[in-house]
Amino acid sequence: MIVFDILSVFPEMFQSTLGSSLIKKSIDKGLVEVNLHNIRDYTRDKHRTTDDTPYGGGGGMVMKVEPVAHTLKAIAPAGDEKKCVILLSPQGEPFEQKIAEELSHYSRIVLICGHYEGIDERVREHLVDREISIGDYVLSGGELPAMIVVDAVSRLVPGFVGNSDSVLYDSFSTGFLEGPHYTKPREYEGWKVPDVLLSGHQKKIDEWRHRESLRRTLKRRPDMLRQVDLTEEDKRVLEELRAEDPGCV
Ligand code: SAM
Repeated sequence: MIVFDILSVFPEMFQSTLGSSLIKKSIDKGLVEVNLHNIRDYTRDKHRTTDDTPYGGGGGMVMKVEPVAHTLKAIAPAGDEKKCVILLSPQGEPFEQKIAEELSHYSRIVLICGHYEGIDERVREHLVDREISIGDYVLSGGELPAMIVVDAVSRLVPGFVGNSDSVLYDSFSTGFLEGPHYTKPREYEGWKVPDVLLSGHQKKIDEWRHRESLRRTLKRRPDMLRQVDLTEEDKRVLEELRAEDPGCV
């Protein structure tokens, strides 16, 4: 069981994601809990202000530190849970599968979604454990990035996907990209499923899958091959694949 607390000024943005597919099922099954906290509810002024103009001038509004701090205080757990407070930010560490794996070991993850020009620097300095970016582009808010973190981490909670083994073979979990998948029909418009997948010979199927996984990684993400411990057999197969397609590095 993992609990996500999401701090946002637009919590309604999460309804469709949390209300469908595997996330909804895992919430219904009690594997994942997601609590949405509207930062505006923790303001203490008449106008319920969550943002203000930047000191020093410049365009855009900046999210204020107090409402975020008050929200965090209000939702602080009573016990000594293993908790991680994350600020979604384009300036954070790039989100990767290995970070999703690290986060899946926490019992509570707090996600703070910025908006507008950004968030008062004192949130970053004093209230968060880490900052995460979902890529080198700027979105208008941290809500979509938070949904991505919730989804990627929840998939790793045992029971989230029907067959937990399938997660082990996902792209990046193994250090390689996953190979191709096929389902019925065996042939469509003359496009055939590879014979080996219909052979019923599991060892050959596994070998083919691993070879295709290596082929795909070599072709699309050769950088990944430099970060993984290759077996002697992997090295031999990669040499063969390079010979088949000399354009590969
Ligand atoms: N002015 C900021 C900058 O240049 O770094 C960008 C602010 S952005 C418009 C508003 C909020 O969206 C951010 O505070 C952050 O929470 C979220 N955000 C935008 N892009 C993101 C990304 N690539 N990854 C994670 N969060 C992002």
